[in-house]
Amino acid sequence: MYFRCGLTLLYKSLYTPIGRTPQPIWGSLSRSLVLSPQRRIPEFNSFVARTNTCGELRSSHLGQEVTLCGWIQYRRQNMFLVLRDFHGLVQVIIPQEESAASVKKILCEAPVESVVQVSGTVISRPPGQENPKMPTGEIEIEVKAAELLNSCKKLPFEIKDFVKKTEALRLRYRYLDLRSSQMQYNLRLRSQMVMKMREYLCNLHGFVDIETPTLFKKTPGGAKEFVVPSREPGKFYSLPQSPQQFKQLLMVGGLDRYFQVARCYRDEGSRPDRQPEFTQIDIEMSFVDQTGIQSLIEGLLQYSWPKDKDPVVVPFPSMTFAEALSTYGTDKPDTRFGMKIVDISDVFRNTKIGFLQDVLNKPQGTIKAICIPEGAYLQRKDIETIRKFATEQFNQEVLPVFLKANRNWNSPVAKSIMEEQRLGLIRLLEIQEEDVVLLTAGEHKETCSLLGKLRLECADLLEARGVVLRDPALFSFLWVVDFPLFLPKEENPGELESAHHPFTAPHPSDIHLLYTEPEKVRSQHYDLVLNGSEIGGGSIRIHNAELQHYVLATLLKEDVKLLSHLLQALDYGAPPHGGIALGLDRLICLITGAASIRDVIAFPKSFQGHDLMSNVPDYIPPEELKPYHIQVSRPADSEAEKSLLNHPPHPET
Ligand code: ASP
Repeated sequence: MYFRCGLTLLYKSLYTPIGRTPQPIWGSLSRSLVLSPQRRIPEFNSFVARTNTCGELRSSHLGQEVTLCGWIQYRRQNMFLVLRDFHGLVQVIIPQEESAASVKKILCEAPVESVVQVSGTVISRPPGQENPKMPTGEIEIEVKAAELLNSCKKLPFEIKDFVKKTEALRLRYRYLDLRSSQMQYNLRLRSQMVMKMREYLCNLHGFVDIETPTLFKKTPGGAKEFVVPSREPGKFYSLPQSPQQFKQLLMVGGLDRYFQVARCYRDEGSRPDRQPEFTQIDIEMSFVDQTGIQSLIEGLLQYSWPKDKDPVVVPFPSMTFAEALSTYGTDKPDTRFGMKIVDISDVFRNTKIGFLQDVLNKPQGTIKAICIPEGAYLQRKDIETIRKFATEQFNQEVLPVFLKANRNWNSPVAKSIMEEQRLGLIRLLEIQEEDVVLLTAGEHKETCSLLGKLRLECADLLEARGVVLRDPALFSFLWVVDFPLFLPKEENPGELESAHHPFTAPHPSDIHLLYTEPEKVRSQHYDLVLNGSEIGGGSIRIHNAELQHYVLATLLKEDVKLLSHLLQALDYGAPPHGGIALGLDRLICLITGAASIRDVIAFPKSFQGHDLMSNVPDYIPPEELKPYHIQVSRPADSEAEKSLLNHPPHPET
């Protein structure tokens, strides 16, 4: 069973150092902090009423008197009971003798998921009755005493992995959902990775774990922040979107190497891989450059990587932002499979196909394509959906070309593709029989973005039809570098906004452009991508107050007063510094293969940002709002909302 095998491996992995183990740098102090390589399995039974965990018992325990505590997983014919704790399952024999009637009564009457304590002897199962699928399958417990610690009422759902339940129900009864083997595995793996990360950063590389405030000030630009009222009329705190300013100020403060498992808050609309509150492994270092941060992160991931997964291979490959966009149509390419975007403009220079001609006559016009291997698995309706998506979302035409056997091309424009063009396409796209080519024309960025989306869409469609494109065991890391420092603002393309954040330093070779063509400046910003998801990002920072002021005030038109403390600090001998933050929830989600980041967070918010268990956000009575000088015009004043208050909506996700 996945749970037990997974946990066993998990515990094993914790005690075997992974990858290279750098020497501690702190002499005698570090020696007491660094754990010995012969670390033992943790002592699960210290301080508590049990002698053993359910999951640990084996033939080597035969004859031992044990006391176990756990939940009743199931009972068979009032003869056997399976007891579960976080470590696994064990079979308990319910005594049938008259003298043990009280023990029998407890074990037979307690409902499933009741908590019991049993004491008895570890005996071997009768020959032929061993269960090889169960790690404890060679033994069972002959019970002598039992105590019902707490009875369980009828559950809203069964605690069994195979029982399907909606996510809303799981979130509403999260404390029950946490009993599932998958949640247990995910949270324990998360805890162990974080432990290894702390060990690597603090014990092996001299980082200092520092907590920074969560009640803070509005930060210009970036994500929307949650606000917290204060008792001073009209004044609010903001919850930080990240400890960015504090970590830089810690460098000014001479802390040199900072890290924190930091809680961050962003009041953004819900997306499948976002949470309003989330956790980052937040890092900052003085006197470092981009390659220094990258090596640190590669070592950190290699060191903390779970032992039951394929080891992480370092260094990670690197790709410029420009290349990522032109080959994969995104700044977070999934490099586990090909289907790269190819510019085929030259093949069609003399085309007679009207709309291609029109595009090529425009100054920025290009023709691009992706080749979908085994695209024959795509159905007509898939192609129609793809074409509709392209027109509706991108206002672009997509032409499919089906390559049937014997090179018979099937496409709305097949007849207009000349032999020479056909050969050119075959060469550039490395087309084979049964492939499908998707071709589109337009401006570079738009065509790349569209084909990037279609590439992923087609991969999903093909995988749904059984074609394996992405190996689920493969972890494909990639650094994306040389981002532009600024992007045109979405709502007003005449103005600039930071591609990362306003503290990011320009690329040293582009600094002169800041004063002439700022939109052309590359930055010292790097993102870490894993299997097509951004799992981290950071930059070398501006440590010169004058330059930071220029970027904020002149280029970004931000209110510098909001950042006067930081600007002032940069003027008092700020060292050159840089850092990064890894999104812990996303990272663990990818490693565990969880369906959503909510599956690696103990108490996540729903898709709409609600806690379905405790029902927050919630109303606060007006008298409690008075000290904050806040008056709310409550929607509850309307009749409809009143009824909503009385009958809260059914939980959602
Ligand atoms: N604070 C940044 C973020 O949250 C990361 C960094 O630049 O270190 O994305």
